[in-house]
Amino acid sequence: MNSNWRHLLIRHAILLITVALVLGFITGAYGWSMALALAGYLAWILRDLMRLRSWLEKADLEADVPEAKGVWEELFDQVYHLQRRSRQSRDRLQAIIDRAQESTTALRDAVIMVDNSGNLEWWNPAAESLLGLKEPQDVGQPIANLLRHPRFKDYFESGNHAVPLEIASPVNDRVRIQFTITRYGNDEHLMLVRDVTRVHQLEQMRKDFVANVSHELRTPLTVITGYLETLLDNSEGANPRWRRAMEQMQQQATRMQSLLNDLLLLARLEATDYPSDNHPVPMLRVLSSIKTDAQALSAERAHHIVLEADANLSIKGSETELRSAFSNLVFNAVKYTPEKGEIRIRCWRDENGAYLSVQDNGPGIDAKHLPRLTERFYRVDSSRASKTGGTGLGLAIVKHVLLRHKGRLDIESTLLRGSVFTCHFPPSQIVED
Ligand code: ADP
Repeated sequence: MNSNWRHLLIRHAILLITVALVLGFITGAYGWSMALALAGYLAWILRDLMRLRSWLEKADLEADVPEAKGVWEELFDQVYHLQRRSRQSRDRLQAIIDRAQESTTALRDAVIMVDNSGNLEWWNPAAESLLGLKEPQDVGQPIANLLRHPRFKDYFESGNHAVPLEIASPVNDRVRIQFTITRYGNDEHLMLVRDVTRVHQLEQMRKDFVANVSHELRTPLTVITGYLETLLDNSEGANPRWRRAMEQMQQQATRMQSLLNDLLLLARLEATDYPSDNHPVPMLRVLSSIKTDAQALSAERAHHIVLEADANLSIKGSETELRSAFSNLVFNAVKYTPEKGEIRIRCWRDENGAYLSVQDNGPGIDAKHLPRLTERFYRVDSSRASKTGGTGLGLAIVKHVLLRHKGRLDIESTLLRGSVFTCHFPPSQIVED
């Protein structure tokens, strides 16, 4: 209680007692006079209380402050200022919301707010044209009921939104849309949806171009290598300088052939999202045959190759694709590990999924290269790669194959110590007996 109030209350008490005493002096009934004065004071307080109540009840709160005296005057004033402050901050907030809504309305990208139960809360007009959402009937509906694309459902429920999702628009399948989801507040989602049709078409043109060029180059290259083989077979007695030149031509032509094969494989992998096959692939069988091929590749370099694999483990997917990814890892280990090196292939499972790791004690890779290693044509050291005849596409193929099998590639490496390449598959990719 501040001193102002205290003084007012003391003044009221003195006034009340004085009135009661005067009345008592006139009438001689001091008790009744006191009671009458108190009743009057109570009536006065109740009247102002009723005024306060009816003023507060006014919905617009804009009505004038009621007339009052003493304590009540101050009370009304304080309530009035409190209301004015809260009205001002409400107006300020409303202005911010209005401006945010105006700007999102002008956006060509869709902005959608989804609550923590996955229900639609708010969206801008672009969401109606890109996704076909309708107001007001879709407000409060689960987003998964309105956007029924299986990949969207998986993406939304996975909780991992680090990489944007690209699918065809549910309104027009010639339009490609890209989703970016950000979590905020109490597990609510803010979704941004962009029309990426043009970028997608350009990307498609690039893929088609690479695939077509690789395909067209295959036939002339087959003819060249065929003739070179025949010429080399019949080159006894030829000038040794010519023979060397022809051998080098054949070596480079073979390299070009594997480059074209890898480019075509990558183009095929990129053409669809999920593997064409979804069969059980027994890991032990596939890895045993890769180990045999690796031993043949190693030949007189005599690597010590060890295979430890869970005999009952099978992964769902395409055997051809998985074989090509695993053999790229194992053959890289053979290519880059010096002779008599150790190569260990392990395959196991735990509650987080299935794993395949290829470990070698080769030259290792500097940590600065690791993030870019799966990019096409990225090479740590071009001399190392040209000696081994690598195409620079092996790890890009591995990454793509794993993506198509919902897996990922982890690379650990220490310079001069060796490298471990580990493929991780989620439990949903394991075939249960
Ligand atoms: P490449 O056809 O050149 O082998 P990859 O995409 O398979 O292309 O590999 C990219 C680069 O990663 C290689 O050029 C090589 O420098 C490095 N690399 C891959 N595997 C290993 C390994 N086991 N040990 C050391 N370096 C490796």
